[in-house]
Amino acid sequence: MITGATGQLGGLIIENLLQKLPAGNLVAGVRNLSKAAWLRQSGIEIRHTDYDLPESLETSFAGISRLLFISSPHQEDTVRLLQHKRVIEAARRAGVGHTLYTGFAFSHQGSIDNIHTLTEQAILDSGMKYTFLRNALYMDFVNVLDLNEAISSSVLNTPPGNWRFNAVPRSDLALAAAEIVASDGHVNKSYDLTAPHAWTFADLAHALTELSGKPVIHREDPKIQHWIYNWLSAINTASTSRDLERWMGRPAASLKESVAPFISRQQA
Ligand code: NAP
Repeated sequence: MITGATGQLGGLIIENLLQKLPAGNLVAGVRNLSKAAWLRQSGIEIRHTDYDLPESLETSFAGISRLLFISSPHQEDTVRLLQHKRVIEAARRAGVGHTLYTGFAFSHQGSIDNIHTLTEQAILDSGMKYTFLRNALYMDFVNVLDLNEAISSSVLNTPPGNWRFNAVPRSDLALAAAEIVASDGHVNKSYDLTAPHAWTFADLAHALTELSGKPVIHREDPKIQHWIYNWLSAINTASTSRDLERWMGRPAASLKESVAPFISRQQA
């Protein structure tokens, strides 16, 4: 069973799983049933699974041997933690054999507990078998950088700093997750699913140059302000691991490939 199945990551994981397993082996956990038409058409069983409705959870997890629990997108971490604890308790009570959880790469390296370390601890405390799929930063964060303006002006402006990123597209994370979900040998293991090498804003400017055919340089500008830089500086986006490529079974997307969907056709 995959929760959050109508979401972007859940949908991509299910598309990959359908290449590996019969649809009849899969169950989609869905908050909003009206969004599940394509899943139903694929022959996948749909169950109403709402992290805010404890009564939906235990029923929905009945008979599930392997649960891929996709973390909640709620903006408040206190709410997310409550939702996650409900899911874990319901899975334990329903007798789910093995829970796989999508957390965040290298989230254990800071000194402060966060939503993902706390959720992982709750899964450990439940006594269920687990696998922790610790996902890199999604490549989507580049949306805040105004890449099309960088191409037009030939300058990618960012705040000063030693920024390095292990970000990858969801499609790579989904391929690795599907492989892990569909195969054995992952009980009580943790994987950091990141790009194999960290990239910099200078590397990003180079990728924009290659994609657009126009020179783009990187410039540090202390006047640039956006909340995301505060958030990025508080998390580890620089550490890398080979786990993603190992489970994808092929090289991760290059920076140029990863960034291409975020620039407009006229610029490419
Ligand atoms: P997404 O497209 O927003 O999908 C989130 C999924 O969660 C949707 O299916 C949504 O259902 C479902 N959901 C929301 N509230 C729920 C609830 N109360 N009960 C059950 N399901 C609920 O997010 P995504 O891109 O697939 O990402 C998956 C998760 O990764 C996010 O939820 C977030 O925790 C995390 N994340 C990671 C990064 C990163 O950089 N690694 C960045 C952003 C988010 P509906 O379709 O009904 O809305």
